[in-house]
Amino acid sequence: MSKFWSPLVATLVPYTPGEQPKIPNLVKLNTNENPYGPSPKVIEAIKTELNDNLRLYPDPEGDALKAAIASYYQVDRNQVFVGNGSDEVLAHIFYALFQHGQPILYPDVTYSFYPVYCGLYNIPSNPVALTDSFEINPEDYKQPNGGIIFPNPNAPTGRYLPLDQVEEILAANPDRVVVVDEAYVDFGGETAIRLVTRYPNLLVCQTLSKARSLAGLRVGFAVGQAELIEALERVKNSFNSYPLDRLALAGAVAAFEDHEWFEKCCQGVIGERERVTGALEALGFEVLPSKANFIFARKPGVEGEALARGLREQGIIVRHFNKPRISDFLRITIGTAEQNDALIAGLKSL
Ligand code: PMP
Repeated sequence: MSKFWSPLVATLVPYTPGEQPKIPNLVKLNTNENPYGPSPKVIEAIKTELNDNLRLYPDPEGDALKAAIASYYQVDRNQVFVGNGSDEVLAHIFYALFQHGQPILYPDVTYSFYPVYCGLYNIPSNPVALTDSFEINPEDYKQPNGGIIFPNPNAPTGRYLPLDQVEEILAANPDRVVVVDEAYVDFGGETAIRLVTRYPNLLVCQTLSKARSLAGLRVGFAVGQAELIEALERVKNSFNSYPLDRLALAGAVAAFEDHEWFEKCCQGVIGERERVTGALEALGFEVLPSKANFIFARKPGVEGEALARGLREQGIIVRHFNKPRISDFLRITIGTAEQNDALIAGLKSL
């Protein structure tokens, strides 16, 4: 530990992002990016925004984007919060909307940023085991807590919790905020946003990184009743009043305006996901049912790490987690048909 570090930093266990390799031409199936790229209208909008106005600060409220999201999901503008990727939105949520003295409930196994935020803010947590089939059981979320968060579909399992079961969790926790992290919802799930009017304790978080193919632009948002959004705005304005730059705002607005492109990309990913699932099953893999743009798969009797290494030697990167219960699994992002063919051939050869 450096003598210059604050004692707070010394205790941090930071998140480790998936590898962004410097080597070109790898088949990159490790960080759940969208293989099809953003809508051409997004690129156009960003080019148009590249002008002398860059000397001016962007709109601190991100009003145009809030309006686009509100219109898309049929909610009020004051029910929308926008931020620099959903990771940042989540950071504000943990600070603003969880009761810090009591344990936060999230699934064990889930997105590994949640424990990191608990560590950052010194909030206790109580990870809740998934069922034997790697599902979330709403019954397990009926215990005292300071807030609840889970991805739906869950990551890295890809398993989806139907909305009636999400409602069961919401109804059982009327005095606690329940955050549904819908990073992957557009690949076959149904958003909980339509429940926002009925549940003041619901906050839905989404990202433009996956279905809208804009991971590089860093845009995320949350939808909930105005009281929750106001808390997030307070934290944002105590941290960085301009989380979204002018280019990100322009591109994100355009992304919500090109519905056709969005639909085509999602359907492409879903079709390929089903094809890859079938092909891996034919190779003897167990593949969890996924509603995400990735699959979680294992080959009985074979170490996940060995499979990941074998693929890597063939120039194919997938994600392997060295964690209890899931160390025999690979998380494989759905790529283009060509990339998926390379993956299937790669696994066949191992
Ligand atoms: N939530 C989940 C469940 C994720 O997997 C990710 C992507 N790693 C995020 C949130 C963050 O997405 P972003 O910051 O790119 O919006």
